[in-house]
Amino acid sequence: MTGSSAAASASSAGAVRPHSDGFRLGNDVLAFRFVATLSERRGDPVERIPTPERLRAWLLANSLGKQDMPVSESLLKEARELREAIHRSGVAIADGGAPDPAAERLLNRWNARHRPPLELDGGVARWRLPDADPARAALAIVAFDAVATLGGHAGGVIKRCEQATCDGLFVDTSRGGRRRWCSMATCGNKVKKANLKRS
Ligand SMILES: [Zn+2]
Repeated sequence: MTGSSAAASASSAGAVRPHSDGFRLGNDVLAFRFVATLSERRGDPVERIPTPERLRAWLLANSLGKQDMPVSESLLKEARELREAIHRSGVAIADGGAPDPAAERLLNRWNARHRPPLELDGGVARWRLPDADPARAALAIVAFDAVATLGGHAGGVIKRCEQATCDGLFVDTSRGGRRRWCSMATCGNKVKKANLKRS
């Protein structure tokens, strides 16, 4: 495998199941699925990429990277920093502000240094991952998606999930702007069930 299908944007990384291998994959935006690797942000946070192996599994579950790619502890640490910069930036934008300059610089650095080339291959856009450190390049695709989503959300609005403990992010493209949850399969169902119990 030389790369991952990119389609129109990095977000459409193949068909992903809402729940897969303990990950939350129900969000349609790749960068925000990555944010969801730390879930329950306003409750008891759950770290879903506690080890380099789990980071590799998450990348593969999102059609990024190569089966046998090495992932180091230090890359895991950088990945978490990237994730938190995406979350911080998205929260700032959802709250009507702008990302802090340090978070923007970090996202820009990932794009400038590590992003692999996007190529047409038989009419399909694919990221061509390098043989050296493909996991880092795969994370840079996440960073690219974050920049494209945070800075270019034409046709949608970035919002914070309203489920009480989540604080995940999503792009609301619904007519009337009524979407409230990062994913129907997780937070939407949780809220619905809680409401049923109450009624
Ligand atoms: Zn949520």
